[in-house]
Amino acid sequence: MKIKRWICVLLCMLLCAGIMTTTALAAGPIYSVTYELTGMTADGEPVSAEKGTALGITLTTMQGYETPDSIKVKVGENELTNGDEFYIYKMEDWIAVTIPGEYVKGDITVTATANKLNLSDNANLSSITYYDGGLWNYISLSDEQLQEAATTEGTEIAMSHGCLDNQFIILENKTEDSKASAKYDDWARLKDGKCTVIVKVTAEDGITTKDYILHFFIDPTHTWEDGECTICGEKCQHTGGTATCTEKAICDSCKQSYGETDPNNHKKLIHTKAKEPTYTEEGNIEYWKCSGCGKYFSDAAGTQEIYYEDTVIRKRIRYRP
Ligand SMILES: [Zn+2]
Ligand SMILES: [Zn+2]
Ligand SMILES: [Zn+2]
Repeated sequence: MKIKRWICVLLCMLLCAGIMTTTALAAGPIYSVTYELTGMTADGEPVSAEKGTALGITLTTMQGYETPDSIKVKVGENELTNGDEFYIYKMEDWIAVTIPGEYVKGDITVTATANKLNLSDNANLSSITYYDGGLWNYISLSDEQLQEAATTEGTEIAMSHGCLDNQFIILENKTEDSKASAKYDDWARLKDGKCTVIVKVTAEDGITTKDYILHFFIDPTHTWEDGECTICGEKCQHTGGTATCTEKAICDSCKQSYGETDPNNHKKLIHTKAKEPTYTEEGNIEYWKCSGCGKYFSDAAGTQEIYYEDTVIRKRIRYRP
């Protein structure tokens, strides 16, 4: 009986050892991954590593920091050599680290120090120029317009007079120095003669930004010739001016005469005082005569028309007894 029990114990031990060995092969020791970071984050990245299994980590550079050229990786107390025992792949705002499986054999510490960028105030447009597409003019904004463009109201920019729905602009800009860049749609059509463009300028630090607001509009002044605009072809809707008995009204906009004469509007009424007749000369009543149409009137306003005959008072007659 004693021998049987020993055999049982021995079999049990072998079985247990077998299970333990299998488990050990399937999952090796688990090591911790610790990050010592400045200006970078390792959110969501692994915090543990399995022995013999390659480890990939991506560190993200925080805004206002510059991705470092190198990082440190320690396994236990040993610092690994970059390019030999681990590899990095650097992009503008992140850096990827790969540690081959053969070096994953202890607790891992990743140290990365990103340098803080100096916040710049150079998100300034020093100049912006635009093509006035309608007439292919090349125009620069004034200093005053550039300053206004940085306010919330923006600046108003009058484009050359052109076709209201067919004109377009192409913007070009230079920033104050090479450390700022500007972004906008590079051209825009002026619908109904208007268009607002926002130019976003970002300084080198990637944090300091400024919007420049440009309201383009077409100068509405037409260039009239015979009642038609020589640039856009629009016909003048004549308005204003006053017609007289001999002259048509002159349009306030295009300065051309239009419409009909007004037979009731006499401009130059010449006044003649009443004159008593004598025995030798005829007299006349007080009257007004229009120098334009030659009509006679008994009132200064020129409303009561009379005829020449009506103005004449016959000579006095000397009666002989
Ligand atoms: Zn016009
Ligand atoms: Zn007109
Ligand atoms: Zn008249």
